[in-house]
Amino acid sequence: MSDPISALINLQFSPAVPIPEHLVGEVQSKLAYVDEAIRSARIAPSGDQITLEIQEGAANRQDAIQEKVQRVVHSMVKGAFKPKIQVLEDHLDRPVIFDRDPMEELAARGEVSQEADGIFSLGPMLTRLIAYFEGHFEHLAATFEAVPYRFPTLIPARYLERVNYFRSFPHSLTFVTHLREDLDAIDHFALHAACDEHGLNVPAESFSRIKTLLSPAVCYHLYFTLADSTLQSGSLAATAVGNCFRYESSNLASLERLWNFTMREVIFVGSKDYVLENREIARQRMMPVLEELGLAYRVESATDPFFVGEFRKQAAFQSAFQLKFEIRARLPFKDSTLAVGSYNYHQDFFGRHLNIQLPDGSPAHTGCVAFGLERMAFAFLAQYGLDSENWPSSVRQAVNG
Ligand code: ATP
Ligand code: ZN
Ligand code: MG
Repeated sequence: MSDPISALINLQFSPAVPIPEHLVGEVQSKLAYVDEAIRSARIAPSGDQITLEIQEGAANRQDAIQEKVQRVVHSMVKGAFKPKIQVLEDHLDRPVIFDRDPMEELAARGEVSQEADGIFSLGPMLTRLIAYFEGHFEHLAATFEAVPYRFPTLIPARYLERVNYFRSFPHSLTFVTHLREDLDAIDHFALHAACDEHGLNVPAESFSRIKTLLSPAVCYHLYFTLADSTLQSGSLAATAVGNCFRYESSNLASLERLWNFTMREVIFVGSKDYVLENREIARQRMMPVLEELGLAYRVESATDPFFVGEFRKQAAFQSAFQLKFEIRARLPFKDSTLAVGSYNYHQDFFGRHLNIQLPDGSPAHTGCVAFGLERMAFAFLAQYGLDSENWPSSVRQAVNG
């Protein structure tokens, strides 16, 4: 965490290789992780200028910071080619009535209360709105006769290791620890623990080694329950909602990008055809739902936010095989879009890594449809505002009771 009270200085320079426009957002989001002194990072849309705000105390390390930034740029840009974005649905110009950032009004009405960066409590109207969206997602799950699951918030490090998560998304991990079983360490903590602007003043050796993390996704838990076994039925549709954690550093912003958020997933496990067909059916069944919500959105091909070293190769792979499509809702107030959900196909990745077999002995294929509940609510309010009399009638009736 950066020190909130120290002064900031601007550092502006050109990337050693120009950043193509389609990579600007992706590279920019990674700059947050380059150095603790970086408080914000911006790349000009044209890709030829980088502006960092860094803590004044790091002024003597400007060259080193710049060098690390250039390393990121080089690694992500070199040899990259522009993926062909495939648009499956385009309702971005659906008329909406609101064009402001809803956050200020949400805070004024007590509908959001920020506990820390990326951590919010939500009030009654947001809670009801999310319950209404959830009703639609649960109904979608029911059309597949998806069976319900409840998964833990914690996930063993050993599990994430088994599916290469550490290599792909190291930057967004959140680790869990506890005090070591040691009378001196616990007594010392009880007597001296206090928070300063850097956090808890507790010596690192008081904490246990890390064996557990906060879970970054929902469907992984299902795959782990199926690990090292044969799926006798040949296919499975399941659904669950859960807390997910992704540390997004200075990219954490309002309800758009949270550290702690909730995801509803409908998950398919089976043959390649079973998973791909159901992913497609799910997308088609969501079309009338998104229309009923009046949402202005587009469904287009996308890639996961892999970290620097893995980004180019893995993103190109996902893009070439159309493994991911995002529902991107329009945010009128910033003239951009935000992913509120995704349709994912993992091929037999989890089947192979976790040894989930189909009755014929081949590894199972998996896929999931995932909705970000806070983002659904945020995007809806960014398009329709907080006054329910202006909402599409079905939403108004459901939420007002
Ligand atoms: P983004 O592209 O915005 O970083 P993602 O591609 O990592 O999101 P997925 O892994 O597909 O997202 O997760 C499914 C859904 O979960 C997203 O469509 C989004 O609605 C939600 N989600 C993902 N990350 C966050 C976050 N940090 N805060 C809030 N919601 C999130
Ligand atoms: Zn999933
Ligand atoms: Mg994405």
